[in-house]
Amino acid sequence: MSIPKKVSIIEVGARDGLQNEKTTLPVALRVELIERLTQAGITNIEVGSFVSEKWVPQMANTDQVLDQLTRKDGVQYSVLTPNLKGFEKAVQHNATEVAIFGAASESFTQKNINCSIKESLQRFEAITQQAQKHNIPVRGYVSTIIGCPYEGAIDPKKVAEVAKTLFQMGCYDISLGDTIGVGTPLTFQKMLDEVLKEIPKENLAVHCHNTYGQALANIYTSLEYGIHKVDSAVAGLGGCPYAKGASGNIATEDVLYMLNGMNIETGIDINKVIETGQWICKKLNRENQSKVGLAKH
Ligand SMILES: [Zn+2]
Repeated sequence: MSIPKKVSIIEVGARDGLQNEKTTLPVALRVELIERLTQAGITNIEVGSFVSEKWVPQMANTDQVLDQLTRKDGVQYSVLTPNLKGFEKAVQHNATEVAIFGAASESFTQKNINCSIKESLQRFEAITQQAQKHNIPVRGYVSTIIGCPYEGAIDPKKVAEVAKTLFQMGCYDISLGDTIGVGTPLTFQKMLDEVLKEIPKENLAVHCHNTYGQALANIYTSLEYGIHKVDSAVAGLGGCPYAKGASGNIATEDVLYMLNGMNIETGIDINKVIETGQWICKKLNRENQSKVGLAKH
């Protein structure tokens, strides 16, 4: 057991969260959400994405969000960039980090982007090459690391293979996503056993959805493996497009409560995150998915 003394939170509420919400927020509120979270001490934050507005209207005008933000020193402002055009926009508007994404499931990749996993990753090579020139760190997401809505259980070796490909392409950080939240501590262990053969724990993060209420258990399991980067979303923003009514990302407040209780340092003020969670839920007219946020009401 080597539970880390310090953990970094990667706040994904303003992108992964909001893009799965029914309500589309105006730019000013997206900016305020990001500023509130960085004021709470969050230093890694996803602020939007440059995908087609037709597909993801919630993320339209991410360029304006980047331009209007009051930036804080030492904070990474990350955007999802599916192609080179998106990457160029990200550079133009001073994103300090970009993210690319792949899945560990062939059927998921086929259904979503109509190509093989290998082809899907090759499309990102142009981005990682340009990013190196501009000295911009690239984060790589691997989704469906435990289960896939189309083919069920995913082979941990496949996860390791996709993660390794992204790592070799130059991603400094690989975020392992349990997209449909079906993982348990045992399936996480089996997956991490394989992935850690290929990638050092320093370069890994876990991204747990709480669809079946297993996210904190899976995060704890990952901490036991020495992983010290955790993705989460304030108020548990987001949803799960593959399970109706199901919750999305694990709430940042709930992760912080667990870490605080374990005396693990994060540098984040949990009370400010709770307040922000309650505030954003009112703006979105939705229920707070954070247990801690509800308890501290
Ligand atoms: Zn997510």
